[in-house]
Amino acid sequence: MDKKDFLYEGKAKQIYSTDDENKLIILFKDDATAFNAQKRGTVESKGVLNNTISTMIFNYLEKNGITTHFIEKLNEREQLVEKVDIIPLEMVVRNYVAGSMSQRLGIVEGHKSPVTIFDICYKKDELGDPLINDHHAVVLGAATYEELKYMYEVTDKINELLKSLFDKMNIILVDFKIEFGKNKDGKIILADEISPDSCRLWDKDTLKKLDKDRFRRDLGGVSEAYIEIESRMKNVLN
Ligand code: ADP
Ligand code: UDP
Repeated sequence: MDKKDFLYEGKAKQIYSTDDENKLIILFKDDATAFNAQKRGTVESKGVLNNTISTMIFNYLEKNGITTHFIEKLNEREQLVEKVDIIPLEMVVRNYVAGSMSQRLGIVEGHKSPVTIFDICYKKDELGDPLINDHHAVVLGAATYEELKYMYEVTDKINELLKSLFDKMNIILVDFKIEFGKNKDGKIILADEISPDSCRLWDKDTLKKLDKDRFRRDLGGVSEAYIEIESRMKNVLN
């Protein structure tokens, strides 16, 4: 299927229409942003790597009973997906404390949480994607309580599946962000991407960061880290 019209562009991807009104093409760019786009850059081949990694993860989740927007990988940078109305919430899961939670609460980065932590952020660039709670999400009209309950249940399942996958890769899944959307039948399905852009991934033995924190914190070796994730995932899934 070919790209038709350019529809819109986010910080890391472009979205195109296709001949089928219910299908979109997502193009993964090499652009990287952090801290609400105050820091910008490019990471060589990041789009190609994230397209491959996200494809492997969405296929794995589908095989394990998660309904997603993913249809097929078209080429190096593009994938065909089911069009959804994105629910403007970032569902964040934390197995270890890191990043913004570590800073906000003064908990040392790397603290293993005794419980799975679920955060939601309101997807609104102008406001800097603020951390909100369920009641705020309902007042904003982003989701109903029933929809939130369903998204938490699916998010929990996804966390268990991802923890198991990354464990086999000798990697700790510290935290991650996912997005859901409603398809033409009104069903809530997993959308967007799952990649080292949207997860914190630490090597189990060395605790080396193999994710976007290498870009955020100027640690160097960003592409190399993404290549390492791609290679370990291929070994485990093929
Ligand atoms: P952002 O700047 O929000 O990080 P990206 O550069 O990642 O955005 O661009 C992807 C955009 O496409 C996001 O707004 C995401 O919510 C949206 N999107 C992802 N999957 C779908 C889909 N299946 N249908 C419609 N929009 C989608
Ligand atoms: N995350 C993301 N997009 C965002 C915000 C966060 O993919 O807009 C991911 C991030 O990569 C990490 C997790 O969500 O894996 C938790 O991020 P956190 O709230 O700690 O924010 P950050 O430190 O990235 O500002």
